[in-house]
Amino acid sequence: MNTYSRQQVAFSHGAGSKLWDIQGKEYLDAIAGIAVNTLGHAHPKLTAALSVQIGKLMHVSNVYQILEQEKLADQLCKLSGMQEVFFCNSGCEANEAAIKLARMYGHKQGIENPNIIVMEKAFHGRTLATLSATGNRKVQAGFEPLVKGFVRVPYNDLAAIEQVAAHTPDVVAILVEPIQGEGGIRISDIEYLEGLRKICDQKNWLLMLDEVQCGVGRTGTWFAFQHTSIMPDVMTLAKGLGAGVPIGACLANGRATGTFGPGNHGSTFGGNPLACTAATTTLQVIEEDKLMANAKSIGDFMLQELKSRLGNLPGVIDIRGQGLMLGISLSKPCGELVARGIEKGILINVTVDTVVRLLPPLIYSKADAEQLLDVLCPMITDFVNQGA
Ligand SMILES: *Cc1c(COP(=O)(O)O)cnc(C)c1O
Repeated sequence: MNTYSRQQVAFSHGAGSKLWDIQGKEYLDAIAGIAVNTLGHAHPKLTAALSVQIGKLMHVSNVYQILEQEKLADQLCKLSGMQEVFFCNSGCEANEAAIKLARMYGHKQGIENPNIIVMEKAFHGRTLATLSATGNRKVQAGFEPLVKGFVRVPYNDLAAIEQVAAHTPDVVAILVEPIQGEGGIRISDIEYLEGLRKICDQKNWLLMLDEVQCGVGRTGTWFAFQHTSIMPDVMTLAKGLGAGVPIGACLANGRATGTFGPGNHGSTFGGNPLACTAATTTLQVIEEDKLMANAKSIGDFMLQELKSRLGNLPGVIDIRGQGLMLGISLSKPCGELVARGIEKGILINVTVDTVVRLLPPLIYSKADAEQLLDVLCPMITDFVNQGA
């Protein structure tokens, strides 16, 4: 079906931060399949681990014990401090699990019509419940009636939440991205997340963090909430977790644990041995190769360079970033920069029409970053100066 407006390029293979198209032209990857290819392309440790696993066992049903899944769950709980994990195959599924969990949490307290607070410019996926939670009319239009039970407030605005707390009955949870990715790399304040934690504790609500894009090392810590002092009650992961193999996870902690029992939720493919081996290997390589420290130092370098090379241009509104999640906000729609980048051999992304988004693989070297900046910065400079 015609669901994507695709660029005129097809890749044949990749290695590290590079991809080659079917004509043999080389590209530097600064999008990583939208924050998916954590380890770049064809990472030898991931390729080896997956090859072995494929030769042993790819799939068994969740009616059996799956040791690869247990190992990954233990690893994720150890790294995050969370207590329980449900595995699925994507970000929207992880958020569906979180939404269902919040509703059941409410029902168990006798709340028949539970509400979840969600944010303007949020992105949580494209299933019916998650597009209803998403704060982008383009994602919702044509798919009404939307799923009920979401209350929307401005992002990074504690007063707005307090307002809802005072006036909306039957709230059971807040669902929020610590950094809005599709929304344009908008980074919430530490005090905001800490304030949400306090309100949730006072009200007995669940604080549910969507870390589908910002989780798994990308911001320089395992999870973005680890830049703060708080723990979430629920956290969702997907994109970077399997470094290219589809896997999603919904984690629960504290008062959110024990909500689901057998039969309440499930997935045929979720948590299969292949996907779980991809994820355990990804986590292991991030640790062994110190990729979180790399994400921080390369990300800091890129942010500083972007600011000094582009910050003073009239058409550049803002430059934001944390680790290897970077956004350059322009004063006019800039979707055409994606194709211009392809011509020049760099793969970048544009979101919310006006924000150039960079999500390089965590293996990016200083040389990769310099190569990217040397192509990208003149390209953006020319673009904003056009017609000026
Ligand atoms: C991409 C994304 C999703 C949806 O993930 P899919 O795997 O495409 O379903 C949900 N939340 C956030 C924050 C995302 O970036």
